[in-house]
Amino acid sequence: MATHKLLLLPGDGIGPEVMAEVKRLIDWLNAQGIAHFETERGLVGGSAYDADKVAITDATMALAQASDAVIFGAVGGPKWDQVPYDVRPEAGLLRLRKDMALFANLRPAICYPALADASSLKREVVEGLDIMIVRELTGGVYFGEPKTITDLGNGQKRAIDTQVYDTYEIERIARVAFDLARKRRNKLTSMEKRNVMKSGVLWNEVVTQVHAREYKDVQLEHQLADSGGMNLVKWPKQFDVIVTDNLFGDMLSDIAAMLTGSLGMLPSASLGEVDVKTKKRKSLFEPVHGSAPDIAGKGLANPIAMIASFAMALRYSFDMGDLADKVDAAIAAVLASGLRTADIKSEGTTAANTTQMGEAILKELQALHG
Ligand code: NAD
Repeated sequence: MATHKLLLLPGDGIGPEVMAEVKRLIDWLNAQGIAHFETERGLVGGSAYDADKVAITDATMALAQASDAVIFGAVGGPKWDQVPYDVRPEAGLLRLRKDMALFANLRPAICYPALADASSLKREVVEGLDIMIVRELTGGVYFGEPKTITDLGNGQKRAIDTQVYDTYEIERIARVAFDLARKRRNKLTSMEKRNVMKSGVLWNEVVTQVHAREYKDVQLEHQLADSGGMNLVKWPKQFDVIVTDNLFGDMLSDIAAMLTGSLGMLPSASLGEVDVKTKKRKSLFEPVHGSAPDIAGKGLANPIAMIASFAMALRYSFDMGDLADKVDAAIAAVLASGLRTADIKSEGTTAANTTQMGEAILKELQALHG
């Protein structure tokens, strides 16, 4: 059986609490001989700053580069609000994304039937929802140059951000999205603003070409990003996979996320290029939520986003889709049984703390596996 190297970076706040529930799962998989994971641990964010005065050390970065996947908790908190900008907790995550060249951000939005009433939208609109937003993560207006504020000398200033995309950046993110669509319901929606932006014109053209050349079997449609946002809240079930740039992806994935209820439920994956020699790709998996300092250390954190992020690692880094399906099914079964952490608690359900939720999911997984 292949050995997979995982780097666990729990981070700050509730990060270590939710990571403990993933570790419980990994230990069980190893003990049962279902998989063989070698785990290392490192510090990132505020905890790394406290130990080494940086947001992540070079040594931890080297471990990340050598791993088959990084499993990341969350960073930040009021304790580190005043530390110098370049060593603030978030800088650790940004360095990981940059140095590992993680250009594709995958954000699934799944609405578990048991939680359909937690959404601000009507049950029939969100029940059974399962969409995947693929956001370009390393290009576009967040990184384009020039990026300046200039004093015009007449009491006015001018701010410039530059939206820039090259063909290869659009091609590679499109391929990730088409490949995902093929494994799902075979439909891809590409979103941009070709009516007012040159980068939108090129985005549309390149996605269309990649489709015609390599993915004719996948259904492709184009939507303007603004009406796409409208459609996301109007009838989200029309979508399977959505691919879009860094800026629109930032906004649209947050909108899609909120269709499903709590932040404590949302996983994500960030992927790099496939290495031609090893056939592996760099990857990092993390919950969408932050370090939640308001509830840290109280056993109140919902570990589902973290566990579902690990399930994404099984699916996208280790080709263990069947096992990932079982983890997802175990989460759905525990929710259907009425167990709830505080963030998703509703009348008539049973309260659970972080550990109880993690244990219940593992127990369901054991039953599904047995
Ligand atoms: P947050 O996601 O940490 O918390 C927002 C709200 O959601 C809080 O009320 C919190 O209690 C709740 N929440 C979040 N995750 C939860 C979970 N798993 N279970 C139950 N409730 C949960 O966002 P914030 O409060 O804006 O930020 C707190 C800190 O986290 C800040 O320092 C911020 O910079 C950092 N942050 C880090 C990341 C990251 O590491 N990727 C992302 C966002 C924010």
